[in-house]
Parts: sequence; C-alpha cells; structure tokens
Amino acid sequence: MTVLVIAEHDNASLKGATLNTVTAAVACGAGDVHVLIAGHNAGAAAAAAAQIAGVAKVLHADSDTLAHALAENLAAQVLAAQAANGYSHILFAATAIGKNAAPRVAAKLDVAQISEITKIVSADTFERPIYAGNAIATVQSADAVKVITVRATGFDAAAQGNTAPIETTAAAADSGKSAYKGSELAKNDRPELTAAKIIVSGGRALGSSEKFTEVMTPLADKLGAAIGASRAAVDAGYAPNDLQVGQTGKIVAPQLYIAAGISGAIQHLAGMKDSKVIVAINKDPEAPIFSVADYGLEADLFAAVPELVKSL
Ligand SMILES: Cc1cc2nc3c(=O)[nH]c(=O)nc-3n(C[C@H](O)[C@H](O)[C@H](O)COP(=O)(O)OP(=O)(O)OC[C@H]3O[C@@H](n4cnc5c(N)ncnc54)[C@H](O)[C@@H]3O)c2cc1C
Repeated sequence: MTVLVIAEHDNASLKGATLNTVTAAVACGAGDVHVLIAGHNAGAAAAAAAQIAGVAKVLHADSDTLAHALAENLAAQVLAAQAANGYSHILFAATAIGKNAAPRVAAKLDVAQISEITKIVSADTFERPIYAGNAIATVQSADAVKVITVRATGFDAAAQGNTAPIETTAAAADSGKSAYKGSELAKNDRPELTAAKIIVSGGRALGSSEKFTEVMTPLADKLGAAIGASRAAVDAGYAPNDLQVGQTGKIVAPQLYIAAGISGAIQHLAGMKDSKVIVAINKDPEAPIFSVADYGLEADLFAAVPELVKSL
C-alpha cells in the first residue's frame, strides 16, 4: 500500500499545508508516501517536496495546463497517478484547492470522500470534527481507496532532511472544461493566516475599516502577527474576506490568538479554539469568547489595544 499526497505550491515553493498533509500521510501507516507536484516549471517545488522527511518519491507532472491548479486538470492528473500506481490513500490539504479537486477524484473513483480529518486512528479509521467542531466523529471507511482532505491544524508540519527521488510523469490531457484567465491577489507582507504563529483578530466592535486598520495594524506589526477578523467585521466591510476566521472562514491554530471586540459566536470559535493561547479583549464580561480564553481582559479595546502596543 502506498499513500499519495497532492502538494500545494505556487510552482516555485511548497505551501505549508503540504507539510502537515505529509505528516498525516505517514500516520496512515500504509507504506510509502509519494508526493505529486502537478505544475508548470515547478522543478523548485518538486525539489522542495523531495526534502520532506518521510517522502519516498516525488512525482512531477509538468504542463502549462497544470500551472494554476485548475480543479478539472488537477483531478485528472491525480486519477492518472492512481491508475498507474494504485494508491491506497490519496490525501489533499483541506484548502480551497484541495476541497475543489478531492471530490472530483472521489466521485471518479466511486468512493466516499473523508473530509477534514484531524486525527488518524488507523489506516481505515479517522477522526473529523462535525457540528462546527462541537463533536468529533470517528469514521471508518470500507472503500478500497481512501480519498481524504486533511485539516492542517490537526497535524504537525513534517520535518525537512530527505533526498527522495523525483520521477517525471506524463501530464494528463487538458480537460478543456476550464481555463485560467487571471487572478487578483491581495498583496500582504504579513504571515499567511493559516500558517501564522501569532494572529490578532478584530470584530464588529472596531466599527469601521479605518478604525480596524488604525487599531489592529500596530498590534500586528509589534507582534509580527497575521491579522484575522470575525465574519461580522468582514460582512460590514471592515476587513477583507480572506481574513475571516471561523466555520465559513479559515481554520487556524496559532501559538497566540488575540481576539479584540469579538463576541465568540460558535461559528467563530470553530475556526480558532484550537489556538494554543487565546487572549480576549471585550467590554462585556458575559461575552462567550471568555469561556475559551486563557487570558481575558474586560476592557474597551480602543483603550486596551493601544496601551498593549505601547507596553510591548
Ligand atoms: C452559517 C454561519 C456561518 C458563520 N461563519 C462565521 C465565521 O466563519 N466566522 C465568524 O466570525 N462568524 C461566523 N458567523 C457569524 C457569527 O454567528 C457571528 O455573527 C459573528 O462571529 C459575530 O462577529 P463579532 O463577534 O465580531 O460581532 P458581535 O457578535 O457583534 O460582537 C461584538 C463584540 O464586541 C464587543 N465590544 C463592543 N464594543 C467593544 C469595545 N469598545 N471594546 C471591547 N469590546 C467591545 C461586544 O461586547 C461584543 O461581544 C457565521 C454565522 C452563520 C449563521
């Protein structure tokens, strides 16, 4: 039995979630772990994948049709690898790319996808959160091939220090069903939210996008932190969409999560309650965020956050 991990990369370097997915793949205990790099001029990403501890082989498929991880073409490439090598497990990170491609692969293989696993009990049994993280389901799969998405926060990043062989594999034909037209990427010098060690997050209490920036940015700068936001803050236009933390946003588990003016609705907690240390600043002593906070400060954030910045 061999496990295949679908790497996420930008053709030049690997995305962090790939390292957590490899850890999950090794934990399946099903034998060798292969990593698929499907990309264009992605030799550097393939070389990076070969250095991940626990990887037995890197499969490298190169084509301009694979440059942007279009779901149809990526799924076809995974299916080609599956046809050639008969993997027992196919693991994607539970990111936008993984969640887009994995269901296509599962459907084509006529198996049930096992989504957002956080723990591997055995090669066929997995844990995954349900009801916005309020219950953990233990799922046993009888399918011959397990198609899985992996919640990165549930697994440590795999170590470096390997020289796995890189095997070139033929690119699958273009599906012709979708084409890359362009992307508008928000420029951000801060750490990526899902990989950040420290996150400072603002809620509806900030009141405007100007205030959100004025209050939260200096704190993030001082701490070298990523900035997050509640959905209410995003919906109100105080912060961009890609900063949303929670059930319908990003799932994070940094070393330190500071929530300022966030009530702690269950859907927000679902995205951050696995953070190692949670600090809450809220003027309402009854705010539910205090029930998950390691340190709670009952205060007006417009006074408390600048004071914190000053004393750091
Ligand atoms: C299907 C579904 C999915 C959802 N997904 C998400 C999600 O992914 N992420 C998410 O965040 N939400 C999500 N929500 C929304 C969620 O239910 C809450 O509405 C939202 O999290 C509230 O955001 P908030 O805490 O910023 O705002 P509020 O609930 O309005 O809380 C504001 C808090 O700020 C405090 N406050 C006010 N002024 C100050 C001040 N000056 N100083 C200090 N504290 C102050 C208040 O006491 C209050 O606790 C979802 C909802 C649904 C139904």
